[in-house]
Amino acid sequence: MTARNEEAEGWILVIGSVNVDLVLSVVRHPEPGETLAGTGSRRSPGGKGANQACAAARLGGDVRFAGRTGIGADADLALDLLRDAGADLSATDQMPDVETGLAVVTVDEAGENSIVIIPGANGSWTPEHVRELGDAVAASDLVVSQGEIPALAVDQIAQLCATTGTRFLLNLAPVIDVAVSTLATADPLVVNEPEGRLALTALTGDTAPEEDAGTVRGLREAGVRSVVMTRGARGALVSVDATTTEISSPRVHAVDTTGAGDAFVGALALGLARGERVEDACRLAVRVGAYSVTRGGAQPSYPRPSDVLPG
Ligand code: ADP
Repeated sequence: MTARNEEAEGWILVIGSVNVDLVLSVVRHPEPGETLAGTGSRRSPGGKGANQACAAARLGGDVRFAGRTGIGADADLALDLLRDAGADLSATDQMPDVETGLAVVTVDEAGENSIVIIPGANGSWTPEHVRELGDAVAASDLVVSQGEIPALAVDQIAQLCATTGTRFLLNLAPVIDVAVSTLATADPLVVNEPEGRLALTALTGDTAPEEDAGTVRGLREAGVRSVVMTRGARGALVSVDATTTEISSPRVHAVDTTGAGDAFVGALALGLARGERVEDACRLAVRVGAYSVTRGGAQPSYPRPSDVLPG
């Protein structure tokens, strides 16, 4: 593992998924049973973990990425832009006996996407693999994970963070069956609107309210320390202590929303690792998310510091 610069502050450890994205452009999404001619295709790096690590690293963050891939051309492509952005990949395992994760992303003319994921190597994470990262967790200012690796691995990450006192950002995307103690360790829990409702229902067994503010309040009352809900073009809702703050996103012309939530999480992680308040880190994150929807793909659409739209 690359020696940590002890002078530097703000180390982020992202533990999570890494994929090849096969992005298909269509005029509209096909109906079930329909065959539709697409208008283009491209392959690019993806996976929520890798995307978030890439977004934070491209913004200048000190990022270590722990992921699992197969070997060969797919793994090289999956890690290419992360490496380019300067992320430390020494904790990423490349294994000969599994396939690199694959996501087939279909994007229509309105920029809306639908996604099918084959987890491949991302599904091979176990609590034991996570425990091997104990020193890296302890040496980090912030650990970030998501729902694209098995729930037991995410639970182990939360436990390590609780033991070492390392702040844990959990992006519960997609919503998986993590332990209640994992949700209680997250600070913040980051969800989009449907994920927030699903998470609340999973926690309480009750139907979530229609209102985003009610969902966020419900998650806090169920024991989550702080909650950030992303709301597409409307920005984000942030609930910390007794306060819920609405943070609006810049108005932009969206061409492809793939990976916008990951751009947001990467920027949020950067601010938190540097000691910013959640609300302040979210003010940068909405601008980074908005920038990303004005360009195609996930990682290729993420900004450098000089690209970020003014606040
Ligand atoms: P997810 O992709 O996880 O569903 P969202 O769609 O909520 O996440 O997007 C994450 C962030 O990206 C939003 O909080 C917002 O800042 C930005 N964003 C997404 N879509 C748009 C849009 N159409 N216009 C402006 N900003 C957007």
